[in-house]
Amino acid sequence: MSDNGLSRRQYLSTVGGTAVTVSLAGCFGGGGGDGGATEITAGTAPGFPPFEMKQDGELVGFDIDLLEAVVDETDYTLAGWEEFEFKSLIPALTNENIDVVAAGMTINDERDETIDFTDPYYSSNQAIVVREDGDFSPESMSDLSGRPIGAQKGTTGESTVQSELIEPGNLDESNYNSYGNYVLAVEDLQNGNIDAVVIDEPVAQTFAAQRPVTIAFTYETGENFGFGVREGDDEFTQALNDGLSTVRDGNTYQDLTNKWFGQQ
Ligand code: GLN
Repeated sequence: MSDNGLSRRQYLSTVGGTAVTVSLAGCFGGGGGDGGATEITAGTAPGFPPFEMKQDGELVGFDIDLLEAVVDETDYTLAGWEEFEFKSLIPALTNENIDVVAAGMTINDERDETIDFTDPYYSSNQAIVVREDGDFSPESMSDLSGRPIGAQKGTTGESTVQSELIEPGNLDESNYNSYGNYVLAVEDLQNGNIDAVVIDEPVAQTFAAQRPVTIAFTYETGENFGFGVREGDDEFTQALNDGLSTVRDGNTYQDLTNKWFGQQ
């Protein structure tokens, strides 16, 4: 985050060093009113369609459009996007490499200990995805017992595998395969290297529409996605929440939902 149109990286290289980040934190929330919009940098993890993915080299998706629409309603300016593996997003936020995470990130207590979240903007459950023409059609978690299963590192899909399969003793740890992103997990499923992927339902639906995979069953987790923000950046968080409710009250949220998830 930096003031007066200087990008964060330029600012850091001008003034030098990490000490600057401390004083920058003090500038937070000064957007508008003080001679220039405060610039913020967003972080995401492509490979999670339709929330964020690369299309012809360009970062696109529901989260990208939604966060940009929300920031447009505030006194902040979006300087740009940085891409990370999902599991690196929270460290990038706390290290101040980015100022906000827009990555279909589920609001939960564990993450809430380290970062804050905006109000929720999307709900999800987990889905268990299998090969479309395969002979494996599990109907419940216990049917996954003893099978090679995949999920993305650091996700609630991974936590679901841990808490519902590994901890109760239904799956040996060695049967669990964790991937840097969900595209790699689904490719390994298609290749027959694993037999199921545990993944957020709207993303499972997108993969099922685009690849020879299908949802075997869903597992209700009642998750809500929020934008991740640093603890203590309360004015910024409030601005995003106000922006979110403006975007929800108008047509923008519905338009973006239609654009990325089809008519609902
Ligand atoms: N919603 C899931 C989580 O927060 C997955 C997010 C993702 O893979 N981008 O862990």
